[in-house]
Amino acid sequence: MILFLEPVLKENVWGGNRLVAEFPYRAEGEHIGECWAISAHPHGDGVVMDGEYAGFTLSRLYKEHRELFGNIGAEEFPLLIKIIDAQTDLSIQVHPDDAYAREHEGVPYGKTECWYVMDCPEDATLVIGHHAKTRKELADMIAQDKYEELIRQVPVKKGDFLQIEPGTVHAIKGGFLILETQQSSDITYRVYDYGRLVDGKPRQLHVRQSIDVINVPDEADTKALRHTDGLPQNRLNLLEECAHYKVWKLELQGELAFEQEYPFLILSVLEGCGTVDGVAVEKGAHLLLTSGHGNVRLKGEFEAILSTVGGDAS
Ligand code: ZN
Repeated sequence: MILFLEPVLKENVWGGNRLVAEFPYRAEGEHIGECWAISAHPHGDGVVMDGEYAGFTLSRLYKEHRELFGNIGAEEFPLLIKIIDAQTDLSIQVHPDDAYAREHEGVPYGKTECWYVMDCPEDATLVIGHHAKTRKELADMIAQDKYEELIRQVPVKKGDFLQIEPGTVHAIKGGFLILETQQSSDITYRVYDYGRLVDGKPRQLHVRQSIDVINVPDEADTKALRHTDGLPQNRLNLLEECAHYKVWKLELQGELAFEQEYPFLILSVLEGCGTVDGVAVEKGAHLLLTSGHGNVRLKGEFEAILSTVGGDAS
């Protein structure tokens, strides 16, 4: 079975208009920052658009028909797939791991996430990691507002892929369009917000939690980034395999058939168009192939990111 979900669009202070202008998404508002494309999270639970389960939320379908998801044991649907359009810089932030999220926030999942850079300006950088050598130095630099010295800027180009482990200081900057594959969580600790005011007030910072969870010393920059140019066409190229998810990139030129052997498989079309088992898909389409789908036949010319659950959550 192939499930299509109604995407959930989110307005954010840093959001732009590309999700509405360049993709088949509809939303009111000037600053649409996020499209939650495949989500069962309570803050944006996608609804199945058609077929036998039309009208079901993904969370309900996961609860009542776990067989569609390979009967995995994860207590909630484990992944969230979104496209982010940042017109201006996002806050500098960090996420907790599962253990910290459970203990301090009462939710099952912390947040490991990864980014595929769909578009970005020339000579762009992202904030990945920091330069503090000890937790004391980290706390002092935060207390003294020495963010320019603290944060690490990493050069990034279109097509790059970044894995963001919990405890990694990070920030998406203005001009980036990103496909994010993440654990189904929205627990974010804001370290610094550039002194911005939203509705006349600064947004809340979470300095104590940030200092708790930030990895010190930080080695994220040596592990986080990989380039995807030159990958072979017409095959699933594994970009990341961690406890929470597996993520692949596909450049399709013509046809590809393969066996859907995972508990479920998500396919997001980033560019181009074609068909999946005869069903037309275009840029911005996200679909979920359920367990036991069997052979999948892709045709057309498109670029896609695919994902499934990792070992821990299954
Ligand atoms: Zn994040």
